[in-house]
Amino acid sequence: MKTVSLIIPCFNESDSLKQTYEAIKQVSEQSAAFSHEIIFVDDGSQDNTFSIMYDLAAKDECVKYITFTRNFGKEAAMLAGLKSASGDAVIIMDADLQHPPHMILDMLQAYEDGYHQVVAKRTRTNEKPLRKWLTKFYYKMINKLIDVELVDGIGDFRLLSRQAVDTLLRMPEYNRFSKGLFSWIGYEKKVIAYENQERVAGSSKWGFGKLLNYAIDGIISFNSKPLRLLIYMGIIITVLNMLYIGISFVQILLFGIDVPGYFTLISSVLFLGGVQLISIGILGEYVGRIFYEVKRRPEYVVEHTNVKREKAKHYTVKLPIGDKK
Ligand code: UDP
Ligand code: MG
Repeated sequence: MKTVSLIIPCFNESDSLKQTYEAIKQVSEQSAAFSHEIIFVDDGSQDNTFSIMYDLAAKDECVKYITFTRNFGKEAAMLAGLKSASGDAVIIMDADLQHPPHMILDMLQAYEDGYHQVVAKRTRTNEKPLRKWLTKFYYKMINKLIDVELVDGIGDFRLLSRQAVDTLLRMPEYNRFSKGLFSWIGYEKKVIAYENQERVAGSSKWGFGKLLNYAIDGIISFNSKPLRLLIYMGIIITVLNMLYIGISFVQILLFGIDVPGYFTLISSVLFLGGVQLISIGILGEYVGRIFYEVKRRPEYVVEHTNVKREKAKHYTVKLPIGDKK
C-alpha cells in the first residue's frame, strides 16, 4: 500500500487544528489505496497549538509533530515537513481549512494517473476588489521579471510525488520562495480548481506588510533581473540629464544666465535621489541574501518532534560549497 504524508504548517492555530484534523481524517480514511501520516509543524505558536498536536499524536499513531523554538515562517515549516515526510506522495495544506480536505481524494487520483505535481487552484470569488486587483497586478509584473512562471490562485496547496519532493530537497537555499521552487522543478502538473474558502477560526497571519515583503521576496529570490533593470534606468536617466545639460548650456551661451531654474534643479535632485535610494535598496537586498546564504544557518530549529531522526538526517547534511555531488 502506498503512503501519503500530509504536511500542515501551523502558527497559532489552536482554534482550528482539531477541526482540521478531523476533516482530514474523515477524508483520508475514504481512500482505500493509501495509508496516511499527518505531519503537524508548529511554527513557534504562542497558544496551545502544540499541546493539541501532542494529544492527537498520543491517540493516533498516524500523527507526527515537529515544533520550532520560535516562529521561523511558513516556508521553514513546509521545509521541515518535507524533510520528515516518508510518504510516496506528499500533500501540503493549511491548518485553517481554507484548503478543502475533500480535494485530497482528487489529488491522490491524479497522482495515481502519473502526475508528479497536482496543484489546487483557488478562485478568487469572495475577495475584496482591491486585494484582487493588487494580486493580479503583482502576477503580471512578476512573470515579466522572473524566469519561472507563477500563476494567480496557485499556492502551496498541492501534492508532490516522492521524486518531486526529493528534487525540492536538493535545493539548499536559505531564502526559500516555494511558489517559485515548485515551478522551477518542472514535472508534468495537473491543476484542479476549488472555490475560495473562509478561514474556520482565528485570523490570517498575513497583513499587508507581510504580503508586500513576500511579494518582494518572490521577485528578488529568483534572479537578478531587477539589477539589470537598474542599469537600464541609470542609462536612460543619464542620457536625459546630458540632453538637459546640453540644452541649458546652449541656452546660456545664447541668452545668458537665467535666474529661475530653481524648480528644475530641485526636481532633478529629488528625482535622482529617489532613483539612487531604490537602487541602493535593491543592491542591499541582494547583498543581504548573499550574507544569509553564505552563513549556511539552518532554516529552523526543532524543539520537539516524534519523527524518527534517521529519516530527516539524510537531507539535513549540507554539502560544502563547490561540491558537485
Ligand atoms: N503559517 C505558519 N507560519 C507563519 C504564518 C502562517 O506556519 O508564520 C501557517 C498558518 O498556520 C496556516 C498557513 O500557514 O496553516 C497559512 O496561513 P494563513 O491562513 O494565515 O494565510 P492565508 O490563508 O491568509 O494566506
Ligand atoms: Mg489561511
